[in-house]
Amino acid sequence: MILTYRYRLKEPRAAMRELARQAQAVNFVWNFCGETQEAARKWGRCWPSGYDLINLTHGSSHELGLHSDTVQAICKQFAHSRDTHKRRPRWRGRKSLGWIPFQVKRAIRMDGDAVVFLKRRYRLWMSRKLDGEIRCGSFAQNARGRWYLNLQVEIAEKRDCGTGQIGIDLGLKTLATLSTGEKIENPRHLAQYADKLAIAQRAGRKDRARVINAKIANCRKHFLHAVSTRLVRENRRIVVGNVNALGLAKTRMAKSVLDASWSQLRSQLRYKAMRHGAEYIEVDERFTTQVCSGCGAVSGPKGIADLGVRDWVCCECGLSHDRDINSAINILITGRNAGLQ
Ligand SMILES: [Zn+2]
Repeated sequence: MILTYRYRLKEPRAAMRELARQAQAVNFVWNFCGETQEAARKWGRCWPSGYDLINLTHGSSHELGLHSDTVQAICKQFAHSRDTHKRRPRWRGRKSLGWIPFQVKRAIRMDGDAVVFLKRRYRLWMSRKLDGEIRCGSFAQNARGRWYLNLQVEIAEKRDCGTGQIGIDLGLKTLATLSTGEKIENPRHLAQYADKLAIAQRAGRKDRARVINAKIANCRKHFLHAVSTRLVRENRRIVVGNVNALGLAKTRMAKSVLDASWSQLRSQLRYKAMRHGAEYIEVDERFTTQVCSGCGAVSGPKGIADLGVRDWVCCECGLSHDRDINSAINILITGRNAGLQ
């Protein structure tokens, strides 16, 4: 399977200048592709393919001070994003975040805790060991102006997942409820940052707000990684409901935050399960709150009116349920049935 590894670059000024210069050249090539396409449209020709664009830009890399592979990667990416969105990709200007792609391994060389690109050494924060075969990658800048090296790495699948089976109910109040009865709460320190964020926003300090936002996103990601790693270590089958926050009644802010957490946790579980040889299943989670996990009768709380009902007793078999745990167990049952088919 292919994973993306991301390393932050250490940033002495000379390296930053060089990357900024290359990023500008990348924008130039990108915009050239856009103009070429515009001209083709004007003259009633078909859109140039990635290979046409590569032919047109052939030999320009030396003059632009780019790696020839970077120029090819831009052309291919341009054609690709145009064909997926069915329109001309956006112009890249001064405000665009820096991006320098390369599509073959030979464009770069890893050298200890540094990467060599176009005869220049860039030192990295080696946050984790790089194992596996590098396919392609890019240098990219984030909204805070920091540079990262992204590497697409082909790694071998291992079989070292756990032995258990688990259903996960993603929720509003608790982040996740497990079919074992465990509840994973949202980490509380995020609320602290939210206060700081509000203060910064009221004071109109955009740079400060951006820093805090990045901090919150990082903390959440770190927390979710810890959760998903643990779940895959312990289980060989993981079943998650397909809930999305957009359908739920809550404030707009909370929705986007929840949605980000849920989809992040799901995608982490998906690739980690794949990597460690566990089975990952996503199931339709309608009715999972209403059905009794003991006898299968539809006796639980229904609809939005009963959203506040946390505990209930099944009128058919007399079992008492916690709403979320019951739902998680139902999700596991549904997933197990889907797995058997
Ligand atoms: Zn029952």
